[in-house]
Amino acid sequence: MSEASSVAELATAVRNGTRSASEVLEAHLAEIDESEPSIHAFNLVTGDEARRQAAAVDAVVASGGDPGLLAGVPVALKDNLCTRGIPTTCSSRILEGWLPPYDATVVTRLREAGAVMVGKTNMDEFAMGSSTETSATGPTRNPCDLSRVPGGSSGGSAAAVAAGFAPLALGSDTGGSIRQPAALCGVVGMKPTYGTVSRYGLVAFASSLDQIGPFAGSVADAALCFDVIGGHDEADSTSLNRPSPRLLSVIDDGVEGMTIGVLTEFLDGADPVIAERTRMAAEALASAGARVEEVSVPEVALALSAYYLIAPAEASSNLARYDGVRFGLRVDAEDTVAMNTATRSAGFGAEVKRRIMLGTYALSAGYMDAYYGKALRVRTLIIEGFSRAYQRCDVLLGPTTPTTAFPLGAKVGDPMTMYLSDVCTIPTNLAGHPAISVPFGTDDGGLPVGVQLLAPALAESTLVRVAAVVEAAAPGWTGTRGVGS
Ligand code: GLN
Repeated sequence: MSEASSVAELATAVRNGTRSASEVLEAHLAEIDESEPSIHAFNLVTGDEARRQAAAVDAVVASGGDPGLLAGVPVALKDNLCTRGIPTTCSSRILEGWLPPYDATVVTRLREAGAVMVGKTNMDEFAMGSSTETSATGPTRNPCDLSRVPGGSSGGSAAAVAAGFAPLALGSDTGGSIRQPAALCGVVGMKPTYGTVSRYGLVAFASSLDQIGPFAGSVADAALCFDVIGGHDEADSTSLNRPSPRLLSVIDDGVEGMTIGVLTEFLDGADPVIAERTRMAAEALASAGARVEEVSVPEVALALSAYYLIAPAEASSNLARYDGVRFGLRVDAEDTVAMNTATRSAGFGAEVKRRIMLGTYALSAGYMDAYYGKALRVRTLIIEGFSRAYQRCDVLLGPTTPTTAFPLGAKVGDPMTMYLSDVCTIPTNLAGHPAISVPFGTDDGGLPVGVQLLAPALAESTLVRVAAVVEAAAPGWTGTRGVGS
């Protein structure tokens, strides 16, 4: 793709008629045609629908109207976001044939802003995984190295942006599923504060943790996307009733006077090259006028254990609805109970079954207080630990992941090792706080490294200001990672 520009510039060009949405779309569809067979970022490319949407945007421009902030910007959607009349599978056999009767609120907001939906992206089944290898449609490959995973669970969305299939994508982050694949694919990924982006129409995994957020080629593009999708929604009872965000306008305000805490617990287990990159990011923030100090939040060491009780507990309840009656797949049998069992046995993959069993056990009579109840108390301790750190620091800094992208197949046989991929991202979800992964150079083999910035609830504007400074200091940063021709 030629001539990189920002999403805002691309939308401006479409709004003022310098470029047509249809031409922008065709360039991206051509890129998909060429490289998608080797990457498998998508479960479905919605070319016809995209062409209709792009033509509608061009018609608005031709008639003198304004199609919106994302006019003609191609967007890829994780396949757990409901799209009316368009298959939404969560990369699971159990949703085969199901057509959602409504659009997720984020999908509506993107369309109202003039964005053009190019497809539904591959993911770990029901967002359970860190590599997209639990997908029933087969794994996505990392565009930076096709022998490696893109991360997960939103691996298809990260890969779509990294491969130039779309300048923006949406994912969901329950324990790291936006930030971890963003880090592994070399793009920006942001998990907003719980409640700032409507979850209406997001197929639920663990409802107290799930949050939708953007993937983009730059912090500014991610900020603009958040500005479009965020804000109160009556259809989601956990949506916060606050004014809509405006991150893009503060992004260049710098870090002078801020205090940044380098989170020692996250550095401890990380590969040396990733720890080194994180320290370089800290130095860049110090040179830009921030005070940088080391901070310890010992409670984060408990996060993984608490998460693997809370998330499966909620999942076991959320996934009870797939009974062969209301959604997708049905495997017929002699009576209803046998049909339920046959459907769920055939429809769910091994990881989903493992989570349902873990969750059911954690919630069962006699064990609930010892497991689920204790995990909830640990969750409170983690929130208190972060609160202590945020009395001194505006933002925390650490690696996004302990390693760079690993080879396909390397961790599939060992769930515990796979779960450890999210050790630096999960604490934020338990706290409900925002965090962002920003690409920061590569390891010795040329694989992307991501550094993570964490902030207190609703401090997205502080977060993106710091992220923009880190991004500008990243080795190889040229002003944008490219929106394509
Ligand atoms: N990898 C984590 C899990 O498997 C997180 C997934 C997510 O954020 N959806 O649960």
